[in-house]
Amino acid sequence: MRKNLILWAVFLFASSLTFAQSKLSAHWEELTAADFRAAIQQSQGTCLLPFGILEKHGPHLPLGTDLLNVRYAALHAAEQEYAVVFPEYYFGQIFEAKHELGTIAYSSGLQMELLQETTDEMARNGCKKIIIVNGHGGNQHLLPFFAQAQLEKPHDYVVYVFDERVPPSGGPPHKTTVDMHAGESETSKTMISHPELVHGERANSESGADLHRQNLPENLYTGIWWYARFPNHYSGDGSAATRELGEFQMKWWIGAVVQAIRSVKADQESLKLQNEFYEKAQHPLETRP
Ligand SMILES: [Zn+2]
Repeated sequence: MRKNLILWAVFLFASSLTFAQSKLSAHWEELTAADFRAAIQQSQGTCLLPFGILEKHGPHLPLGTDLLNVRYAALHAAEQEYAVVFPEYYFGQIFEAKHELGTIAYSSGLQMELLQETTDEMARNGCKKIIIVNGHGGNQHLLPFFAQAQLEKPHDYVVYVFDERVPPSGGPPHKTTVDMHAGESETSKTMISHPELVHGERANSESGADLHRQNLPENLYTGIWWYARFPNHYSGDGSAATRELGEFQMKWWIGAVVQAIRSVKADQESLKLQNEFYEKAQHPLETRP
């Protein structure tokens, strides 16, 4: 009996080793070429492009906060619902922080070109469903525009944009009302993803208050609106952050990305409709109304 138990334990140990060896990494850069083939098969061609940025995050959070947090969420989501995750990408829209040290703001044309070539290259390697998981608020107009630009000419893949980072409701009550950048929510999430990089004691060394320095109605947009309201590139109060709020929000974010991956894997329509559209767009004169 005892011998049987030992044999059984050895068998379990050996099979867990085999499993560990055969379990594919979700990190694109960690796969061998042969494993990449298996990864594309296992993910059903579904790949994530977590999109961060390098910009000041108040006086207390690292420059790469958005990149670090979005990768944390995307990689944990891919553990639950397998997808291939593209390496660090931070070439987005951040002109409004050019006055702050550490910001890397690529020109607008390059942002579009680089993103297009990146998704084209991903697709050429089998990623026919690409989910851009956005981690940076300043990309909120760039990414839908990029998705729309996929209709400019035919592509054999679909770009999906997932742009939510904060649960709409629930969780521990918030202590602050202004909370858009390096504030209560983002600081709390970073306490979960990279607690060693959060300098909470510095959070009040600058003001993240809304200065309301523009007197325009809501329906008039200007590029300077953010600077007008938050010249320190800090919106909110990071000292209000807690691990409890961070855990709640991060868990929600990971779950939301998991749901997005599942919905994209199940989507059989978008590519078909794109192809139909591209075909019709070749000869609009013959396209019936
Ligand atoms: Zn941020």
